[in-house]
Amino acid sequence: MSVFLGIDIGTSGVKTLAMRTDGRILASSTFEYPLSSPRPGWSEQDPEHWWQASVKSVRKVLRDGGIKPAAVAGIGLSGQMHGSVFLDRKHEVIRPALLWNDQRTAAECEEIESRAGSRRKLIRMVANPALTGFTAPKILWLRNNEPRRFDRTRQVLLPKDYVRFRLTGEFATEVSDASGTLLLDVKRRRWSQPLLSKLELDPRLLPEVYESEDVSGSLSGVAARKLGLPAGVPVVGGGGDQAAGAVGNGIVRRGVISATLGTSGVVFAHSEGIETDPLGRVHTFCHAVRGQWHVMGVVLSAGGSLQWYRNEFGQDAVALAKKRGIDPYEILTADAAKAPAGSEGLTFLPYLTGERTPHADPHARGAWIGLSLRHGRSHMIRSVMEGATFAMRDCLEIIKGMNIPVREIRVSGGGARSDFWRQMQADIYGNRVSVINAEEGPAYGVALLAAAGTGAYKDVVEACRATIRVVDHTPVHQPTRRTYDRHYPLYGQLYRSLQDDFPHISQLAY
Ligand code: ADP
Repeated sequence: MSVFLGIDIGTSGVKTLAMRTDGRILASSTFEYPLSSPRPGWSEQDPEHWWQASVKSVRKVLRDGGIKPAAVAGIGLSGQMHGSVFLDRKHEVIRPALLWNDQRTAAECEEIESRAGSRRKLIRMVANPALTGFTAPKILWLRNNEPRRFDRTRQVLLPKDYVRFRLTGEFATEVSDASGTLLLDVKRRRWSQPLLSKLELDPRLLPEVYESEDVSGSLSGVAARKLGLPAGVPVVGGGGDQAAGAVGNGIVRRGVISATLGTSGVVFAHSEGIETDPLGRVHTFCHAVRGQWHVMGVVLSAGGSLQWYRNEFGQDAVALAKKRGIDPYEILTADAAKAPAGSEGLTFLPYLTGERTPHADPHARGAWIGLSLRHGRSHMIRSVMEGATFAMRDCLEIIKGMNIPVREIRVSGGGARSDFWRQMQADIYGNRVSVINAEEGPAYGVALLAAAGTGAYKDVVEACRATIRVVDHTPVHQPTRRTYDRHYPLYGQLYRSLQDDFPHISQLAY
């Protein structure tokens, strides 16, 4: 049986896994690297670290899995989206890469909207509004702030595509990651010439765009020797980490949605046509499935809200958990379960770091509203979990409003590890939630893309069908659902009531 490698260039490290054609994972390995923040709001990484960690993790996976190099039939790449690597004429890196969470480009986002004519016109060209994390504002930042470096720049690459260049010598990207640059005509799946000319950017700065399962090049002799693989192994397009993670969850068909409740929360829907929200509250990107798209909402502090509670108020739970040898979240969720659904009128707004979807409001702040003498710790923990889950429902409601059918919701992330939180998700979403057999994320998704792209499967949909299974369902508990349906409109109303106060509140903190 052939072996496929998936390499995911994450923010904290590279994860590589080796998968057999039948989907079985033979080995996986992670190598970490640092992130630097030379000034407040800046976030950078050295692309050389990505390459070195990729080499080490591939070698370790081959060793640990006892894999014969000749059995490796394809490689898929995934990575943190939006980052920008600037290369000069000799293909040398000009400066550290700016990452997705870098916040220095507010002025350039305004510049892009004004050069595009308006926010709406921009959304019409590239399906999304300008966000500080995206790639195009980073390129403009270089031009505005480090013009000499900009003049030397001949090529701009996304993180995984820099690793592809080191693997194959090719300058290439694929549609899902390219969507997050803000320079892709997401509808036509090619660079947007109209926007590039409005921004006065030379199209030659950008690499060739492929579909995610297409072969974009093959392993060069030099790279092959470094990795311990034969030269010529095909490297497929792969995907940005969200699209690749969705493939790894089997989100490749109409009606199947994923709700990933980790530190942040992501609701991700597959879509057969291009659907955009005219208000730009959710991202519309090309999917890693040929000729298809996806829509995605992001909650900044989902599980992160409960983590904040644990760190600030849950020290006794942490100590008790240590004594019993269990996870502190088990103690916190058992405590939460003592309060009734709806927390007897207590509402938590989870905007601890502002909010992305649906409010796009960096000034929004967290709050408990409705406290009375009746409320104790159980209510407070439960309301934190409910608030985070209502925020996920906000994303889901926008997606439903875009006429994307929601038949099955696959849950993953830390919030899916708990029976209690899974049940709460089913009751708040008003939809049965399911869990699948694999939770390997983006590296698994791109290994599947590599299998599909090199002919082991007809396409990635068939690869997912052959390897991914639903293993558990949590049905809706209807009486609880009714309680949450009454509570949810109030949750939305509370943000609107406080919206104008948040800028003043956040200002008080400085
Ligand atoms: P990350 O998003 O950082 O990769 P995870 O997907 O593991 O991390 O999610 C971490 C979050 O999931 C925690 O902050 C917590 O809110 C939640 N979580 C993790 N384990 C549990 C658990 N057993 N019960 C309830 N919530 C949990």
